[in-house]
Amino acid sequence: MDKEIPEINVGVVGHIDHGKTTLLSKLAGKFTDTHSEELKRGITIKLGYSDVTIYKCSSGFAIKEKEEEKCVPFRYVSFIDAPGHEMLMATMLSGAAIIDAAILVVAANEGIMPQTQEHFMALQARKIKNIIIVQNKIDLVSKEQALKNYNEIKKFTKNTLAENSPIIPISTLQEINIDKLIEEIANLEIPKKEKNVNPVFLVARSFDINKPGTEIKNLKGGVLGGVLKKGKLKAGDEIEIKPGLSLKKANTHIYKTLKAKILSLHKGNKSVKEVIPGASISIETSLDPVMTKTDSLTGCLTSTKDNLPEITNAVKIKTHLFKQVFGTSEHQAIQPIKTKELLMLNVNTTITVGSVEKIHKDGSEIELSLNIPVIALKNDNVGIARNINGHWRLIGWGEIV
Ligand code: GDP
Ligand code: MG
Repeated sequence: MDKEIPEINVGVVGHIDHGKTTLLSKLAGKFTDTHSEELKRGITIKLGYSDVTIYKCSSGFAIKEKEEEKCVPFRYVSFIDAPGHEMLMATMLSGAAIIDAAILVVAANEGIMPQTQEHFMALQARKIKNIIIVQNKIDLVSKEQALKNYNEIKKFTKNTLAENSPIIPISTLQEINIDKLIEEIANLEIPKKEKNVNPVFLVARSFDINKPGTEIKNLKGGVLGGVLKKGKLKAGDEIEIKPGLSLKKANTHIYKTLKAKILSLHKGNKSVKEVIPGASISIETSLDPVMTKTDSLTGCLTSTKDNLPEITNAVKIKTHLFKQVFGTSEHQAIQPIKTKELLMLNVNTTITVGSVEKIHKDGSEIELSLNIPVIALKNDNVGIARNINGHWRLIGWGEIV
């Protein structure tokens, strides 16, 4: 039964209220907006997660085993629900660092909106080329409107990585065409990842799973959630976590690398002995859970002992700027980067801000000094955002030199 099946991380992105979270609850049978504040405000603030196994049955793909048919597990999918609110672009970019493919949700009654464009550019910046486009809320529009919206999407994706992406009209609410979407997810290309190298695990969240009042002897260790980008990890491994814990000393933050042991590894609600790159996992560590609670280690990198470079506040980046700013209703041209300007960078799942110290090669290479240090691995992908009228807007992407 426990035969290994291919695994993939799929992000669900798009404008606020276009139906991302509702769609995920239909696919994975679980509501991903788990934080009470989010439920109150009705928007996804943090990244939401849910896992599902897709089965291949005689009549097609399904997310539940059908009783009357023969079904075999076909693929394991970790969904990541991105926040659609414009203030939360940085979180969305962190999510984009851990996904292999994406579902772009466009409500047919509203069409391409500012965060549709901005999220789409973020996928381009992260070089996510496997994109399924969902035309949602088809129940709210006429045939003519649906066709108009389809043409709008076609025009929007022309000459991009998503030029030939499937566009599936669905109604999440009335469960129309969800099976077509499942079929497309089952057909997504599984990315190849390196296994025989030092592990690199991106921490997307961290938490304390103990209920208040648990006796000390029964306490579980601090838990890290995220994605293993390469290499292998197994129970018993000695690991290090960088930049690690941020401590405030005389008004400056210093970072303390954390060393720990892997106590157990989990995929969905299953415990596993060893993991290779695939779906999201969680790692129970020997750390005091106080250190991992409330996402305190989000953005960190983890590897086995002594395999990560030193943290740094100085990075050099090869830049690729977009032509226009997205995310606002009017599209302004992007001005060249200037010395001393502040930029927000997303390096893997780390979010940091830095000032531009030097500009080389007509702006195609820049050096920054960062407020929050990062682990900079050569060729790592970086999202670059600039503050425009009080909002961080994605202006391009880069690679660590
Ligand atoms: P998100 O911000 O993209 O995560 O959007 P939500 O999933 O929170 O959905 C926003 C609203 O749209 C909710 O009131 C949903 O019930 C509604 N909605 C989602 N899908 C559909 C659909 O297919 N048809 C209709 N009519 N409403 C939908
Ligand atoms: Mg949502």
